[in-house]
Amino acid sequence: MSEGSSHQPKVEANVLVLGAESVGKSALTVRFLTRRFIGEYGDTESIYTHIETVDGREICFSIWDSVYPQNPSLQGWVSEEQLRWADGFILVYSICDRDSFNVVRQQLQRIRQLKRRSGAERAPVVIVGNKRDLQHGRAVASEEGRLLALSADAGFFETSAAETYHGSLVVFHQLLESVRDCRSTGKKAVGLKGIVRSMSAVFGRRRIE
Ligand code: GDP
Ligand code: MG
Repeated sequence: MSEGSSHQPKVEANVLVLGAESVGKSALTVRFLTRRFIGEYGDTESIYTHIETVDGREICFSIWDSVYPQNPSLQGWVSEEQLRWADGFILVYSICDRDSFNVVRQQLQRIRQLKRRSGAERAPVVIVGNKRDLQHGRAVASEEGRLLALSADAGFFETSAAETYHGSLVVFHQLLESVRDCRSTGKKAVGLKGIVRSMSAVFGRRRIE
């Protein structure tokens, strides 16, 4: 078999990382990109590109590490530009910060509202309870995160960006899987619509004849 024939098409996914301030959005993103935890990340917003090959298939992630707005009137804010750009969403809270869990709830609601308005059936989402290493300060039970994810048809993980690389890897790969599932069901739906359309075209023509 030649090298070219085993080459599978490239997959591209735009991933938006959301959540309140200081929950570890940048730590989780940088862990995935570099395998490292560097401790301090500043508060700049960045879009990174990351390419890897999985089973001979090239995966190209664009990752938007967002900054949560300071203005209290923008609680739970996700901009329309961000929503249009993203194929999937990683919503991060800190298990030690109940307010940050509420922010995830609000952002989830906003994503659903705006996606529904644009006619999308579902949005691929993974919810992450970060800072799992700080058990003594836990303010959000694992079950609460799991239940929220269940109600939103989202993935759920508790991680520690400080302690492991593997946790961040699993989060990004699970989201990629949801994005691909969502694309293939989307295509099936279009396919079905196409069949209905061509059948009605046939029947329509008959009626005219
Ligand atoms: P962001 O504002 O959501 O991007 O948060 P950062 O990634 O900048 O992290 C905020 C602070 O939390 C930094 O001091 C990080 O070192 C720390 N941090 C991030 N993830 C973890 C974690 O899993 N465990 C602990 N203990 N600290 C973390
Ligand atoms: Mg940050």
